[in-house]
Amino acid sequence: MSTAKAYAAASPTAALAPLQIERRAVGPQDVQIEIAFCGICHSDIHQVRDEWGGSKYPMVPGHEIVGRVTAVGAQVKGFKVGDLAGVGCMVDSCRTCPSCQRNLEQFCEKGAAFTYNGTEMDRKTLTYGGYSDRVVVDEAFTLKISPKLDLAATAPLLCAGITTYSPLRHWKTKKGDKVGVVGLGGLGHMAVKLAAAMGAEVTMLSTSKSKEADARKLGAHHFGLTSDEATFKQLAGRFDLIIDTISAPHDYNKYLGLLRVEGTMVLLGVPPQPTPVAAIALIGGRRSLSGSLIGGIKETQEMLDFCAEHNIVSEIELIPVQQVNAAYERMMKNDVRYRFVLDMKTL
Ligand code: NAP
Ligand code: ZN
Ligand code: ZN
Repeated sequence: MSTAKAYAAASPTAALAPLQIERRAVGPQDVQIEIAFCGICHSDIHQVRDEWGGSKYPMVPGHEIVGRVTAVGAQVKGFKVGDLAGVGCMVDSCRTCPSCQRNLEQFCEKGAAFTYNGTEMDRKTLTYGGYSDRVVVDEAFTLKISPKLDLAATAPLLCAGITTYSPLRHWKTKKGDKVGVVGLGGLGHMAVKLAAAMGAEVTMLSTSKSKEADARKLGAHHFGLTSDEATFKQLAGRFDLIIDTISAPHDYNKYLGLLRVEGTMVLLGVPPQPTPVAAIALIGGRRSLSGSLIGGIKETQEMLDFCAEHNIVSEIELIPVQQVNAAYERMMKNDVRYRFVLDMKTL
C-alpha cells in the first residue's frame, strides 16, 4: 500500500476537498501511473451529487486519466517506467463472460470495476479515480498514449473520446453519412471532431447560438439552433444517425423526427430523470432509439490510435485542482469550452 493525495467528495452535498487515500502495492500485473492530467466529465458531477443513486463515499472522481508510468509489476509486458499511459472508465472486469470475450468489458455480466464510485472485482475495495496524484491499474486496463499529441488535451479522449467514437463505429459511420450531434459540451465536441474525421456530414444541434462559430471550427458543416422550433421542421427526416449528449432531461420525440427512415438515435447523455417516448415517433419510419456506454478497452486503444493518426485532441481549459468545485458550477451553467482538465501537479 502507498499513500496518495486526492480530491474527494465526502457526501452528495459536500464540496470536493483534499483527502489522503491508499493505493494498492504494485502487483505482478500492475502499472503505477503518476497522474499528470485528469479531465472533468459531467458523469463526475452526476455521481458526486448522487443523481443516479447508489453513490459511494468518500468519492474520488475522475476517469479521464493520463500520466507517466513510475513502476511496473514483474509480469508486465506492454509498459515500462517512463512510458505515457492512460486510464479510462474501467479498471477491471471478469474477463471470461461473453461480453468480456467480445472486448465489451463495459457490459461485463459480473459488472465491470469502474474507475471510481465502484469496487474492485472483490466487490469490497472501493475504487478511487483520477483526481489524485497516482493510480495503480492492471496492465490489461491501461492504455497507450501517443507522445505526438498534447498530453493534457489527450486526457478527455479516455471518456468523451471513446464514448462518442464507439457508437460512430458501431453504426458504421462513413463518408457522406448525415450525422447530427446534440449538445456541444465535452462529449458533443468530440463527436463532431470524430464524425467529421470519418467523413460524415455533421450537423451540430445546440441550444447555444453562441457556440455556432466554434461548432464550425470543430468540423461541423451545419448548425441547428434547437431552441428555435423552425429547426425541427427544416431538418425533419434528415439524419442517418443522431448522437445525443445532453446531460439534462429533454424531449427525445422531437429529435426522433429528425431521423431518416430507419435512422438511429443513440443516447449517450444520462439525465437523472426518465423522459417518455411516443411509439409513433419510432413506428413512423421504422426508426431506432438506442444507447451506448463508453467502449471496450480494445476499442479505446483503437480510438487513441485513430486520434494520434488524425491529430485529434480535446479543446480544453486547464485548471488547478483547487478550482474543481468552481468548474462544476460553471459546467452546470453551460460555461465550458469544451472540457475542463485538472493539472495534477497543482495537487
Ligand atoms: P457537458 O460538457 O456538460 O455537456 C452537456 C451539453 O448538453 C451542454 O454543453 C449543452 O449543449 C447541453 N445541455 C445541457 N443542459 C441542457 C438542457 N437543460 N437542455 C438542452 N441541452 C442541454 O457534459 P458531458 O461531459 O459532455 O456529458 C454529457 C452527458 O453524457 C452526461 O449526462 C454524462 O453523464 C453522459 N456521459 C455518458 C457516457 C456514456 O458512456 N454513455 C460517458 C460520459 C458521459 P448546448 O449548449 O450545445 O445545447
Ligand atoms: Zn465520463
Ligand atoms: Zn465479464
